[in-house]
Amino acid sequence: MTVEQIPVTTLASGHRLELTVRTLRGASEGPRMVMFGGIHGDEPMGSETVRRLLEAIDPAELTGTIVAVPVANPYAHQALTRNTPLDGVNLNRIFPGSRGGSVTEQLAAVLCEILDGADYFIDFHSGGNFATVEYAYIHDAGAEMSRAYGTSLLYHGHPYIGSATGWALDKGVRCMVSELGGGGQRIEEYLKRGIDGTRNVLRTIGMLPGEPVPPPADQVIVETLTTLSPSVGGTVLSDFGAVRLGERVPKGTILARVVSPYTSEELEVITAPYEPSILVLGREHLTNVAPGDYGFMVADGATAKPA
Ligand SMILES: [Zn+2]
Repeated sequence: MTVEQIPVTTLASGHRLELTVRTLRGASEGPRMVMFGGIHGDEPMGSETVRRLLEAIDPAELTGTIVAVPVANPYAHQALTRNTPLDGVNLNRIFPGSRGGSVTEQLAAVLCEILDGADYFIDFHSGGNFATVEYAYIHDAGAEMSRAYGTSLLYHGHPYIGSATGWALDKGVRCMVSELGGGGQRIEEYLKRGIDGTRNVLRTIGMLPGEPVPPPADQVIVETLTTLSPSVGGTVLSDFGAVRLGERVPKGTILARVVSPYTSEELEVITAPYEPSILVLGREHLTNVAPGDYGFMVADGATAKPA
């Protein structure tokens, strides 16, 4: 294992921003797998998944090379924020960035240099500080990874414009985005699933020895996944937290009420839009929201097909 510090830029404070890259070279030649954690700083699950994976994989049994950036956005990681606090930019919307740009644009540019030439890429995300999520993207290039990862729900969606995955897919890299855990709930269970799932991906693409475990029998691919964001801020009360992810609920089911902690008025009611709606991202019983926050995510159950 090698650890390298890649210079990004120097801040006005005089502090030098670097990205830490850890490289695990296998005993035999093979594919180059790039992994990112912590593109969003309020998703430390991804960084921890990468960290534990690197500790768990024996280079003697590895074919090829794993190049990992456990914390892709160090200032957001420090602040526990989705966007970089220095310039307010969402790193996963501005790829390929620019070497002459703002801090976040420069981070993206350096991450592209690391991604360039990869055969495979896994980007580890999760819910944010108050939300727990459970699915993986499935892209045509890299679909075998998503199936092997083993989540029951796979989303066949376009990557966001300006995302690391969008950039990598254009370069011909086989990609998967993991969206697992977050919100402080069932953390060890989700870490185990992320690590076991990734090991199964590595077996499937021939980077680790052994027979891959088949995907779960209930694995489905959905075409439509919607984020339900409250249009007003306030206190959210919900019975749809981490333990209910994957549940199918009828259209119109009340997922949450947004109430004013000032006047006690009910400001908004969030309901399930599809018949049925599959719960993909949920919030714990009592959380605060700002207008436009990720409230819930639901998939259209009518589009679900066996994977
Ligand atoms: Zn994320």
